[in-house]
Amino acid sequence: MTKDSKTIPATLIPGDGIGPEIMDSVVEILDTVGAPFVWDKQLAGMAGVDAVNDPLPKQTIESIRRTSLALKGPLTTPVGGGFKSINVTMRQEFGLFANMRPTKTIIPGGRYEDIDFVMFRENLEGYYAAMEHYVPVGDDPKGIALSTGYNSRAECRRIVKFAFDYAVANNRKTVTLVHKANILKLLTGIFLEEGRKVAEEYKGRVEFNDRIVDACAMQLVTNPWQFDVIVTTNLFGDILSDLASGLVGGLGMAPGANIGEKAAVFEAVHGSAPDIAGKGLANPLALLMAAVMMLQHVGRQDLADRINHGIKKTITEGGIRTKDLGGNATTKDLTAALKQQLS
Ligand code: ATP
Ligand code: MG
Repeated sequence: MTKDSKTIPATLIPGDGIGPEIMDSVVEILDTVGAPFVWDKQLAGMAGVDAVNDPLPKQTIESIRRTSLALKGPLTTPVGGGFKSINVTMRQEFGLFANMRPTKTIIPGGRYEDIDFVMFRENLEGYYAAMEHYVPVGDDPKGIALSTGYNSRAECRRIVKFAFDYAVANNRKTVTLVHKANILKLLTGIFLEEGRKVAEEYKGRVEFNDRIVDACAMQLVTNPWQFDVIVTTNLFGDILSDLASGLVGGLGMAPGANIGEKAAVFEAVHGSAPDIAGKGLANPLALLMAAVMMLQHVGRQDLADRINHGIKKTITEGGIRTKDLGGNATTKDLTAALKQQLS
């Protein structure tokens, strides 16, 4: 590959724990297929605290502002010390309103074959606005705990429209909106109301239906094949997307993206896995699949398809799997096998 083929600046954050190991693996694989990214390596998480006493250094934020694109390893938010959650800060800083999580079966022979749906979670509002306080009752100053969530009409529209546009662009047939409008009549009623209006605009192109969140949780377990694109509010999306990852092999196989108008940040869903850090055992596939989403985001579906195909062949026909998937391959073994498959 020539240097000229690298044309898209992107921020690279190796992260904490297993982050640097899996990031090395992913960058090697991206290089093997000639991915177009020019990396600007930046620190965050504990690595940021150790270097400049800041889990999300200014320089890192400025880099993402410049590139609008980041691949991020797992970050540890230090407990105590008054540090704010890195993920929440990043979402607010760049208005990353859509959290996207594809859920697809890759390993055959599991409990669920042929699952293939995508979940979009509203990332900025709902109960995550975290406006909480206590109300005194009698002598008890903390007798009642109160949390205020909100959903704005504009944001409901924006996330639902985003899901519909995704459906159109990716040949998906149905969008299912998940809510609890029978009980939270206003907070999630407004989401359903705006969703129905948006659905009208896509009539004839994309089907629309809705589910109440409790029923949806049950159906995700009993018949997940009925789902194609799901769009839901912040807290419901948090819970349902983890449930979804459990259907297809767990955390080592779950990529995610946080997308906004000013930037997009791609990541593995799992954490820094301190228990296996530095041992060479980590599964790099969740982060690799996040990089695949990043390739799709910049219009390189060709490279995304190539890597996806390579992953499938390597872990099925090749039988090369890390420990979390029941194999005995190290991170390096899997990386080498993937590189061989892809070159
Ligand atoms: P953090 O505090 O950063 O959230 P954690 O250990 O609480 O870390 P995860 O990192 O999400 O949570 O890990 C949960 C479990 O799954 C751990 O036992 C970990 O070893 C395992 N795990 C997570 N990611 C991977 C991976 N990529 N490969 C192999 N095992 C993993
Ligand atoms: Mg964790």
